[in-house]
Amino acid sequence: MTTRQPTSPDLMERLDAGPVICAEGYLFELERRGYLQAGPYVPEVVLEHPDLVRQLHREFVHAGSDVVEAFTYYAHREKLTVIGKEQGVERLNRDALAIASEVADESGALLAGNVCNTNIWNPDSARSRTAAREMFEEQVEWAVDADVDFVIGETFEWVGEAMAALETIKAAGKHAVITFSIVPPGTLFDANPVEGCRRLADAGADVVGFNCSYGPGTMLPLVEAVRENVSCHVAALPVPYRTTDEHPSFFSFRDPNRDDLPDGNPFPAALDSYACDRLEMASFARRVHDMDVRYIGVCCGAGPHHIRSIAEVLGRTPPARRYSPDMSKHASLGTDPIVTEVSRRYAD
Ligand SMILES: [Zn+2]
Repeated sequence: MTTRQPTSPDLMERLDAGPVICAEGYLFELERRGYLQAGPYVPEVVLEHPDLVRQLHREFVHAGSDVVEAFTYYAHREKLTVIGKEQGVERLNRDALAIASEVADESGALLAGNVCNTNIWNPDSARSRTAAREMFEEQVEWAVDADVDFVIGETFEWVGEAMAALETIKAAGKHAVITFSIVPPGTLFDANPVEGCRRLADAGADVVGFNCSYGPGTMLPLVEAVRENVSCHVAALPVPYRTTDEHPSFFSFRDPNRDDLPDGNPFPAALDSYACDRLEMASFARRVHDMDVRYIGVCCGAGPHHIRSIAEVLGRTPPARRYSPDMSKHASLGTDPIVTEVSRRYAD
């Protein structure tokens, strides 16, 4: 049992004062680096390479994330059962929380616990609803034991499931950030997204909104609609991919001209060519912040470069700002007098 002091200022004080930046996307980034398997997407890396998880937390905080989110996404009982390692669920959660806690404490960032979609939620089955609730209860209990500052419940597609997570988090006495993952073409399974957020807000969620699935272009109008319909803080954490009305989610891109993709679907291994750059993500952050959306981040596909640009556009000076681009001293494009003439000659 830890005796961690609560981070000050806390989440709500920070949100009342201005934006809070939250880096997500640990599954994708560690998959890309070769330490996590796409498909099952279970964060066994927490046990196998804790140093890499710690380092990625540090990179995101260095880039400007105000939140260290414990890597317990899909570290729940259902997922561990799928890979035949259910008995390891508690250790994985407690280790992930301890790693995140270490980085939060050394940096002053907020420590967040995390629960997510259980993949077993069936509104018509009392047994499934109870089992999902028990999964939330054990994960939230472990998070509370780690003295998290708040708990994130994310990527819910059912309002009913999100409500169960919210109730569990609030019963444990923690602030709750609850975000839905939109199901193309723009809905949740049991409500429309705005109605879903309103129900969470009415039930006491501290922050409501969206993460994952939708890119900045398609998430923006939904975020705007939610901002107009709830009085609590609003969250927007898109995936950094160029989604469109035709392809609103990163699940729904199709490229019929490629014969190396199953069904022409680039998810998840061939999304690179759809990626948003850091300036596009900063532009999204500025636009939602202008609407008074204050909990801002990036989900699957996020890199520290996205987070730094978002931090900078929101007026922050994260440690990584020291290395932000300065083209004045570029070898051939530089304008600084010290750049040699002979080098500059090739600029054109
Ligand atoms: Zn995601």
